[in-house]
Amino acid sequence: KDAGRKTQLIVMEERTEISSLGEFGLIDHLTANNETHNASTIVSVGDDGAVIDHFGKQTVISTDMLIEGIHFDLSYTPLKHLGYKSVVVNLSDIYAMNAIPTQIVINIAFSNRFSLEALTEFYEGVYAACRHYQVDLVGGDTSSSRKGFIISITALGEVAPTTYVKRDGAKLNDLICVSGDLGAAFLGLTILEREKKIFEDTGAQPDLENQAYIVGKLLKPEARKEIIEQLAELKVKPTSMIDISDGLSSETLHLCRQSDKGAEIYEDKIPIDPQTYDRAREFGLDPTVCALSGGEDYELLFTIAQSDYEKIRSTMDISIIGHITDKNSSVNLVDKSGNSIKMIAQGWDALLKS
Ligand code: ADP
Ligand code: MG
Repeated sequence: KDAGRKTQLIVMEERTEISSLGEFGLIDHLTANNETHNASTIVSVGDDGAVIDHFGKQTVISTDMLIEGIHFDLSYTPLKHLGYKSVVVNLSDIYAMNAIPTQIVINIAFSNRFSLEALTEFYEGVYAACRHYQVDLVGGDTSSSRKGFIISITALGEVAPTTYVKRDGAKLNDLICVSGDLGAAFLGLTILEREKKIFEDTGAQPDLENQAYIVGKLLKPEARKEIIEQLAELKVKPTSMIDISDGLSSETLHLCRQSDKGAEIYEDKIPIDPQTYDRAREFGLDPTVCALSGGEDYELLFTIAQSDYEKIRSTMDISIIGHITDKNSSVNLVDKSGNSIKMIAQGWDALLKS
């Protein structure tokens, strides 16, 4: 085999049938070392329901479902990463409300293709995310499925009364900000899909050397906790906010539609990592299109009043990419030559076909 193709696809060594434990044995096994990190967690796993006291704060709830073959491909997704990511995508929604996540509940359904070792590995990722973000796993449900792996996670968070941020609050002339950089996760997917094809055709193991950043953005994304913390420290309350799961175009259109406004986004201000840029070029893709339509970046897109500009100006990981216009203007991208192009939401499917 090609010596350069080092990274092994997932190998399962031991295999314990779930049926040897039963449902309750499985739940006990998966939650045996479950720790809590929040005073608000009064009753955790083990009863008919969890009890949470948010001590006068408001509660934010968000839920997400992940289906094998639709949202993830286990031929190149390690189960531990999948566990981590399943939690992160939910926490990202809580942060996007300007809230702090505190608890999750997790529902899983799996076919008999999945062993105890596989589910244990998945839970290692779940617990790693719980530790990293200091959230408590307080319950769930376990079921079987005819085919594949289904994950549904609900996250709860807390926020001081009326400090939550919705999608509909953008005001005329507000600055449009985005955290981190965009487009990397889509290229990570493109690389993994290419390697999967090579593996299926030739049996060659994937060559993921020097792709760690991009592939990592897809397989092990992080939710932008520090951005929410920084904004709180700087006493900046965004006027509207959304997390970027479907690409910058789609999310900008959401904010503008719900705020009843237009927007002007400047192509040369969109943050794209040099590695994303180079890989996109290699694949013959336009890096800007990857940022606009790629998705799964889990960065935060938000608007702030112009008067808050000085406060966030020197914040390293936030880029100002445009401003809000009135509702009669559309949502436009001003390209590098100064042409204004009406933005449309494409999403991954369209991009993969282009
Ligand atoms: P019930 O029959 O009342 O729905 P279960 O037997 O399904 O209760 O669950 C027992 C306890 O284990 C509950 O606290 C539930 O939230 C928790 N639980 C069940 N499945 C999971 C799971 N996959 N991960 C974490 N906790 C779970
Ligand atoms: Mg149950």
